[in-house]
Amino acid sequence: MTADPGEGPHVRQLLGAYVLDALTSGETHRVCRHLRECDGCTADYVVIAEAAALLGLVSEADLLGE
Ligand SMILES: [Zn+2]
Repeated sequence: MTADPGEGPHVRQLLGAYVLDALTSGETHRVCRHLRECDGCTADYVVIAEAAALLGLVSEADLLGE
């Protein structure tokens, strides 16, 4: 529902690695911040995280964030 802010690059291409915890700390920080303010990327993150969970690549604890 939030309009696309239209500023800064989105992080969709980083989400796969983010879900797998394969990003650098700087990239992880950037993705975290972006997900807080971008509904579009957050929706993509949920889809990717669920797919990764189905594949057994991440645990449910990982999906909870912290
Ligand atoms: Zn975004």
